[in-house]
Amino acid sequence: MYARIHRDRGVDLRLSTSVSEWIADGDRVEAVALSDGTREEVDLVLVAVGIEPELALAGDLGLRMEAGGVAVDETLRADGGVYCAGDIAAHLHPVFGRHLRVEHWQVARKQGQAIGQAIVGGSSAYEELPWFWSDQYDVNLQYVGSAAGFDRTVWKGRPEWRAVLGLLPAGRARPGGAGGQRRQDDPGQPRADQPPGAGVARRAGRRGERPAGARPVHLEPR
Ligand SMILES: Cc1cc2nc3c(=O)[nH]c(=O)nc-3n(C[C@H](O)[C@H](O)[C@H](O)COP(=O)(O)OP(=O)(O)OC[C@H]3O[C@@H](n4cnc5c(N)ncnc54)[C@H](O)[C@@H]3O)c2cc1C
Repeated sequence: MYARIHRDRGVDLRLSTSVSEWIADGDRVEAVALSDGTREEVDLVLVAVGIEPELALAGDLGLRMEAGGVAVDETLRADGGVYCAGDIAAHLHPVFGRHLRVEHWQVARKQGQAIGQAIVGGSSAYEELPWFWSDQYDVNLQYVGSAAGFDRTVWKGRPEWRAVLGLLPAGRARPGGAGGQRRQDDPGQPRADQPPGAGVARRAGRRGERPAGARPVHLEPR
């Protein structure tokens, strides 16, 4: 669905295609050769390859590593008196039963708060589900949970209802889901500081707006 949103606006989206060669004239890249055998002339190259957390201090402390970060237990404790939060923390999440390392400012903030509370009031399991949102043109994408794998994709909704929802369940104990809805500048629109579902839930309460007899349809993503 998101690929379609971008392609409908003229974006040439090539998945599973890598750069096989940068073709430069002096210190300026003028073309790229791609793994599908094509060559593209370019004015500008934007390389978005992610980041790696800085783990030197944690390594010096002898902390155990997991999933590209510092292994922390359900209470965000790495070792005796050491807690870790945010990008470097590979948290043994009690809901998912595996280590999650999430690069998202909300997670860093909430884990930091939880650690503060643990230090002054005693540790308890950190159970917040990770989530993020992103505006893609006029569609607001929301994702909650962590779908490391999924065995079923369910699409509900109709474009004319201005809301669609895709759920990616992979067992009840490992939830993860993504949803998209047309942005609307109304009070039902979730804000950045609201968990996903806040706006969706309000819309779910508007069932009376649906055409009589209409049922959710199965939307096949192109
Ligand atoms: C380009 C980019 C865009 C992003 N966009 C978004 C976005 O749109 N939305 C979103 O939610 N998240 C975004 N993120 C992710 C978000 O910035 C991080 O998840 C968040 O900043 C993590 O907070 P943190 O406190 O764990 O780590 P950081 O913010 O990285 O803070 C760690 C700090 O520790 C310092 N440090 C490291 N080692 C030592 C040491 N040995 N001694 C002292 N200090 C040390 C570092 O210098 C740094 O200041 C983006 C990240 C990048 C790189």
